[in-house]
Amino acid sequence: MCIFCKIANGEIPNNTVLETEHYLAFHDIYPKAPIHILIIPKQHVDSFQEATPDMMAGLTTFTQKVASLVGLDQAGYRLITNNGDDGGQEIHHLHFHLLGGGKLKWDHLHEDTHRSI
Ligand code: 5GP
Ligand code: ZN
Repeated sequence: MCIFCKIANGEIPNNTVLETEHYLAFHDIYPKAPIHILIIPKQHVDSFQEATPDMMAGLTTFTQKVASLVGLDQAGYRLITNNGDDGGQEIHHLHFHLLGGGKLKWDHLHEDTHRSI
């Protein structure tokens, strides 16, 4: 069983933000922004590439609720899913990173990408 399945079923403790029958939101253990929450379906799928429309429909409403709950719905936030090796995915259980709590940078996404100015 993968680490996020173990978090979803309570085997590994987590700092929960919101939980429903099908979804869980919890704080990332190594935050990369002032607010960094991971949002997962409890059902295991490896990545976004295997996600179903049903799963994503529920996840949309759930994610909007989480953003409101932590006060990011007005200020703004970033939602990211890393997919596969080139996407930098380390844990192979679908998850979305909800990042916010301050202005987020948007550059150097690729190691060979450089600004021309
Ligand atoms: P990925 O690189 O797969 O998109 O993101 C995995 C994320 O999971 C990373 O941001 C990492 O900090 C987080 N993470 C890894 N292990 C744990 C854990 O045991 N608990 C929590 N809360 N976050 C974890
Ligand atoms: Zn899993």
